[in-house]
Amino acid sequence: MTICRQGKGKRMISFKHVSKHYPNGTTAVDDLSLELPEGDITVLVGSSGCGKTTTLRMVNRMVEPSSGTVSVGGRDILEADAAELRRGIGYVIQQAGLFPHRTILDNIATVPLLLGWGRRKARARAAELLELVGLPAGSGKRYPHQLSGGQQQRVGVARALAADPPVLLMDEPFGAVDPVVRTQLQNELLRLQSELRKTVVFVTHDIDEAVRLGDRIAIFRTGGHLVQCAPPAELLASPADDFVAGFLGAERGLKLLSLSTLADVPQEPAPADDGTDRWRLVTSGRGEPLGWRDTEGPDGDEAPLLPVRPLRDTDSLLSALDESLASPAGLVARVDADGVLTGVTGRDRIHEHAGRRHAEAGRASAVKAAAPDSDASVTA
Ligand code: ADP
Repeated sequence: MTICRQGKGKRMISFKHVSKHYPNGTTAVDDLSLELPEGDITVLVGSSGCGKTTTLRMVNRMVEPSSGTVSVGGRDILEADAAELRRGIGYVIQQAGLFPHRTILDNIATVPLLLGWGRRKARARAAELLELVGLPAGSGKRYPHQLSGGQQQRVGVARALAADPPVLLMDEPFGAVDPVVRTQLQNELLRLQSELRKTVVFVTHDIDEAVRLGDRIAIFRTGGHLVQCAPPAELLASPADDFVAGFLGAERGLKLLSLSTLADVPQEPAPADDGTDRWRLVTSGRGEPLGWRDTEGPDGDEAPLLPVRPLRDTDSLLSALDESLASPAGLVARVDADGVLTGVTGRDRIHEHAGRRHAEAGRASAVKAAAPDSDASVTA
């Protein structure tokens, strides 16, 4: 059995010794104990058939547990009225599941109308949500087939949020869109979440998606066993066993760097324009980096600019490592929120910090092994 106890926030969803057996003998979920804090995104991850969807659907009683207790907001869901329970729980599925013959606005207004809000108020709320999920106001009058897959998925999210439920269940919501749109939708979800702070349960089989989105990740193994539940950095630093390590993949260290930011890496002034440095960082009148110029090349000041990808404090150490390798000067150009140059950081500095981050993770892992009952995650 694996118990997951994390953070100090109030528990919004709790599974206590929950199992689900189907009449054909399948055990979809096996003795699951898991507590999900309010306002966090918990990602359930694992290969196909390991019980993620069953776990998710037990939260809104689409599937009822065979044994054990599932509580939402401190209340056993079997004691709640199913319709009332679901009003407080938004549900987003792959390919959005929109009603094809209703306009986008009417799709989004579905739950408010069911709640008896009245047409005007429901439509006004739908229009507000359309904007919140980044869709143009004009798309409200369209029908689902007239939107792209990514736009339909945004509508699905808007519909789930319409009655402002505290809990959002998302079952492989971005599984059917291409990688570029998927990244956009992931960013949108993070942006929305920073405003709305819903308690989100998110199912995926994609570990990179889990690392990007999750405040914590619960890894399942076939047979409905929860193997480990921990924040992404901790999971990457100290996987509970070989199964988890294998699932996280060979590039665990790089994934870990994707979670650290450039913020605490020092910067220095950009190379001076006085001929002492070979590479000059050319900037616009406003101070935005435009490119690198090789002052020792045959063309001197006429030399073409080589590309620069300026980074902000909020960018990851992984991006910094990448840019430090791509930069002809071996320097990462750093900018503020307005894109104006603040300084540069050298390749060696980035390497040093990336290495330190790696080592710290290794130490955290060693400490955890020595004190397995710490509050962060417990595996038994
Ligand atoms: P996942 O979401 O991780 O892919 P599921 O939760 O959908 O996994 O399924 C877990 C297991 O339960 C699978 O073996 C699946 O075939 C089985 N299962 C799901 N629903 C039913 C059902 N209604 N009847 C019988 N077996 C089911």
